[in-house]
Amino acid sequence: MANIYLTNSYLKDINTIVKDIREIKKKIAISLEENIFYPGGGGQPADKGIIKLKSILEIPTLRVLNLNDKVFLSLPTSEQISIGDPIHAEIDWNRRYAYMQCHTAAHVVMGVLKREVQNYSPIGINISETGDIVTAKFNGSWRRQMEDAKSFIERANEIIGRDINITIDTYKDISAAVNKYNEIYRGPREFSGEVRIITINGWDANPCGGTHVKHTGEIGYLRLVNFGIQEIAFSLIRDEK
Ligand SMILES: [Zn+2]
Repeated sequence: MANIYLTNSYLKDINTIVKDIREIKKKIAISLEENIFYPGGGGQPADKGIIKLKSILEIPTLRVLNLNDKVFLSLPTSEQISIGDPIHAEIDWNRRYAYMQCHTAAHVVMGVLKREVQNYSPIGINISETGDIVTAKFNGSWRRQMEDAKSFIERANEIIGRDINITIDTYKDISAAVNKYNEIYRGPREFSGEVRIITINGWDANPCGGTHVKHTGEIGYLRLVNFGIQEIAFSLIRDEK
């Protein structure tokens, strides 16, 4: 199974076939030959979407989940589905794109924290289900003042305003990536096997299996929501429509 979201996170729909069928929690679950659904992880919620069976029957996904490195869509249907059946799959794009913006914003902000927080080490991020608030958790020491937290977000906004290119490259091992990106590398230095690095050109390079936008400008500006000893929460400023 090919996970297309890793190479093209902008693909909203696809025609493919059913590759595997299981039963998960008494529901039918299918995996597709070419998968565009993000199964969740790294603080980013799983995608939702629909599949179209036999070109007419439209079924919403109940859950999208990772099972032994294979993405399965569990479906609320009693319809007969067989391996090899043609499927048209569509992700809920507005929801996914909001997560891509939030997730990429987290890379920018963690790049700031790496520079501004002494002995910085990341704990993790969380993106709200609503796709507008991101919480970055970390260890390290800083003054823990409102003005500092605000200045972190201001610096992130400066990077966003420069509309920097974001690229994805795969390296055969972590040391090749660490050597290439040098001081902008942020992430573990011990890791076995192939590694996928997300680079915000000249600013940040980090191993990640998530979905990202192509330029920092696509994120839109950020606003500080809250902060604590080990966390900064920010929201994306959406255009009022
Ligand atoms: Zn990422």
